[in-house]
Amino acid sequence: MDNNIIWYLEKQVERTIINLKKRNMAGFFVNDEPELKKALKELINENSVVGVGDSVTLLETGIIDFLRNGNYDFLDKYREGITGEEKRHLYIRNFSADTFMCSTNALTEDGELYNIDGNGSRVAPIIYGPKQVIIVTGINKIVRNIEEAEKRVRNYSAPLDAKRLGKNTPCTTLGYCADCRSPDRICNDFTIIRGQFVKDRIKVIIVGKNLGY
Ligand code: SF4
Repeated sequence: MDNNIIWYLEKQVERTIINLKKRNMAGFFVNDEPELKKALKELINENSVVGVGDSVTLLETGIIDFLRNGNYDFLDKYREGITGEEKRHLYIRNFSADTFMCSTNALTEDGELYNIDGNGSRVAPIIYGPKQVIIVTGINKIVRNIEEAEKRVRNYSAPLDAKRLGKNTPCTTLGYCADCRSPDRICNDFTIIRGQFVKDRIKVIIVGKNLGY
């Protein structure tokens, strides 16, 4: 990568981490997957309960397999053959997990987390319940402000996610958001996290590459 681009990204990550801290959240930077796994080993206690939200980033980085193969009580929503009822049970258990992991749809340079969700099973435990929440995000999801976050999510993340999930929504044919009223609509809940009561309950790990949507 061009040195000037590297410099720009380093500055962007630096101010994002500083601003997360001001909001009582922790921010970390890792270069790649091996560094990410090393950080997770330090942050997650062995034998503790770990849940995850739906996340292309966690799949792409191998974190789902890392949790499966590690010494954790992993609430595996991706287990083959899992039924809808079993999944619902896991989603409820996520609220009392020691650690909940997922990604974010956008992270502002001012340290805010912007997310959309279809049924709330991902955004709800970010807000309340698990003792700690670890958000893993690629640098591609850092945006300047909430306005850019909304634009990114409505016109990029959500259409791609709807496509991935095989939803019958206008965005999966148009490639952009039509603010639909479809029963398949995945953009039902919009959340912005701007701070935390419990210091460092939310930890954001920024990985130095493009990940997820
Ligand atoms: S509101 Fe509807 S059209 Fe827009 S991104 Fe969400 S699912 Fe797609």
